[in-house]
Amino acid sequence: MKKRTGIFFTYFQGERLKDFPEVLAGILDKENVSYYDAVYESRQGLYYLEPLTEEILLKVHSRDMVQRVKLTGDYESALYSAGGTVQAAEEIRQGKIDNAFVFTSFGDHHAGRDFYGGMCYFNGAALAITALREKGVRRVAIVDTDCHHADGSRDIFGNDSDVLHVCFCYQDYADKQNNVDVRIPIRTSDEEYLGKVKKEFIPRVMAFKPEYIFWEYGYDATQGEYGDKGLTRDCHPRLARLIKEVADRVCQGRLITILCGGSSRVAATYTIPRIIACLAELDNSQTI
Ligand SMILES: [Zn+2]
Ligand SMILES: [Zn+2]
Repeated sequence: MKKRTGIFFTYFQGERLKDFPEVLAGILDKENVSYYDAVYESRQGLYYLEPLTEEILLKVHSRDMVQRVKLTGDYESALYSAGGTVQAAEEIRQGKIDNAFVFTSFGDHHAGRDFYGGMCYFNGAALAITALREKGVRRVAIVDTDCHHADGSRDIFGNDSDVLHVCFCYQDYADKQNNVDVRIPIRTSDEEYLGKVKKEFIPRVMAFKPEYIFWEYGYDATQGEYGDKGLTRDCHPRLARLIKEVADRVCQGRLITILCGGSSRVAATYTIPRIIACLAELDNSQTI
């Protein structure tokens, strides 16, 4: 049976997601794909995306930080962005879907317990992991292929050895608490990058045996982006295949993909439908 994929979408996004959700038309009509959206009624009339409650926010972030985000004017959008990840994890836990792609207006990985920055307000993965743990889940892996170092996620989980955190950024680091950074040089190639993921992430996550994998998907290391390291757009669907395959092997496919950095509308429109088609095991030629 094909994997069941949830798409979590909000309508607050800026320029890069202007083609969405329309560009997903060939995917949304598949019976193993569920669509959850915020603000407007779902096109299928079935699913809704819920914002986060302050109660859960305060389990990860400080009260002072939550107050500071309220003053930015982006609070509601940040609530739905992180809320998509929390809801995706819960739907997977309940067995309603197997994996998910979460669209965000504001990302995740630069949000720590008491700080935020770099277009990240609340750490959706951290909030989702916190919620899962209240339901008995213990071991979780986060793989981060955004160009930048995940300082916020590391702040939250740095001392937590039940979270494997593998971050592809600009430094080499590893400690006994299952925190790993893998240095990607200033110029690289798809083959070299994918080789590092195969060598540094796959064996670690196989040995770690998490119950869920979260993938912080940023495309800001793509050619022409603000973090350009020379990757082509095709690198990202290939990464999706690698990460999905290992999720299928170690945790019954439980994989939550979270949109992180990247600014190009063209790259978003090219890569995201291909990644979702991979998650849902759809034939790309039919859907794109
Ligand atoms: Zn980034
Ligand atoms: Zn890092």
